[in-house]
Amino acid sequence: MPEIKGKSWKDSLKTRKYEEHKHCIVCGRAIHISQDFCGQECKDQYNKADKKKSKKNTISIVIMVVMVIAILIVPRLLGM
Ligand SMILES: [Zn+2]
Repeated sequence: MPEIKGKSWKDSLKTRKYEEHKHCIVCGRAIHISQDFCGQECKDQYNKADKKKSKKNTISIVIMVVMVIAILIVPRLLGM
């Protein structure tokens, strides 16, 4: 009985160890579960990309708002 218990405990530990790791979301290197990046370099790179991404999102939102306003206002300007 203790042998089986010990084995399953070991197995669960192994599985846990295997599960408890992440990959750096920038370069894909294995990192600790509590971290998002393998180092400062990847963190900086991600933050840069994220800023670019959010800027792009803001631009597309502005374009959409302008288009909606245009759709609402242009018929009035044309006297429809
Ligand atoms: Zn990395």
